[in-house]
Amino acid sequence: MSEKIYDHEKVVPDDAPALPLVMQAPRRGKPPEHWSDLDADGRRERIRAAGLPAFRASQLSRHWYERLDDDPSGWTDLPAAVRAAVADQFFPTLLTPVRTLGCDDGTTVKSLWRLHDGALVESVLMRYGAGRPGSRSTICISSQAGCGMACPFCATGQGGLQRNMSTAEIVEQVVAGARALARGEVTGGPGRINNVVFMGMGEPMANYRSVIAAIRTLVAPAPDGLGIGARGITLSTVGLVPRIQQLTEEGLPITLAVSLHAPDDELRDTLVPINTRHKVDEVVDAAWEYARVTKRRVSIEYALIKDINDQAWRADELARVLKRRGDWGWVHVNLIPLNPTPGSKWTASRPEDEREFVRRLEAHGVPVTVRDTRGREIDGACGQLAASEA
Ligand code: SAH
Repeated sequence: MSEKIYDHEKVVPDDAPALPLVMQAPRRGKPPEHWSDLDADGRRERIRAAGLPAFRASQLSRHWYERLDDDPSGWTDLPAAVRAAVADQFFPTLLTPVRTLGCDDGTTVKSLWRLHDGALVESVLMRYGAGRPGSRSTICISSQAGCGMACPFCATGQGGLQRNMSTAEIVEQVVAGARALARGEVTGGPGRINNVVFMGMGEPMANYRSVIAAIRTLVAPAPDGLGIGARGITLSTVGLVPRIQQLTEEGLPITLAVSLHAPDDELRDTLVPINTRHKVDEVVDAAWEYARVTKRRVSIEYALIKDINDQAWRADELARVLKRRGDWGWVHVNLIPLNPTPGSKWTASRPEDEREFVRRLEAHGVPVTVRDTRGREIDGACGQLAASEA
């Protein structure tokens, strides 16, 4: 037999017959290329390469990001013959729902997704003031399958890093949430996404290029993206200093959150192991510089862990560390009651210790809030749902 078998799972050989509408062949471990991997120029380029007029790119983006319509049969401004081929080539399924869990009367919805190679990631949609005017929605998304930062109190940190997520895998979590809201599938009637927080699985700064490209599509106005305000996007990091410095130059006025969890290097070395490379002072300096250049207040995340980091003297020390760079309201502390992970010896602080920690910070004039603990019943803490499935 002289017939050739082409395995598109691996590579498209050079002598393969030219196919219309072929994008990059999927590589093992790497998800197939998707519309959301591309920027507006890249989409026009691919559309032209597929033999279609460039204006089709705007039409497709309008269906995907503005109308949030994932059923190509409804894309009636495209010739019927083109629709299915276009959908196959540009819109492969990247996220397959494995489990969806709701709590708080259905206003918190956690999704566990399977990626094309079997990796599991999760996102959480939270609705505030559902059904009332001014209702807002926040989606918490993942940037990596697993995480390499190994923070001992975090469920994701225990399993190590599997791989970086692609730009489109990141964007499509938000598209899926926006679609569910638009269709009225979340308690409180139709709505839209106002805030995106990178506080799901993974260290976003360790997947910098894909995360930034994803953010550019999230903030791009219609038809090229979801039109979410940059100020509504929060990137949370363990404190990869060179990447914080790079973000400062990016010209994207997003909110930076830094997971500090301890004001002293001795303790932080154990709670956030990357601290052995980037020390507390260095991380706080980079965060301060971010606030100075972008005029955006930085959020300091601090998970309160009973008898580990919740002593009153550490609140004083935290205030001192943060005020060292000036007192002009550049920073805000977000205290997170520890959500204990299975098998962990650590738990949340006693209420009186938490109150004293807040009181001390306030006495030093440091703005502070305690984060609400939505989603606890559904393993809302970072990585817990994926961990229980695996
Ligand atoms: N890797 C990034 C973003 C993911 S985690 C980062 O570390 O910032 C988002 C936030 O949840 C971080 O502040 C993280 O430290 C915190 N977190 C993780 N596990 C937690 C737990 N079990 N209880 C409370 N907060 C937790």
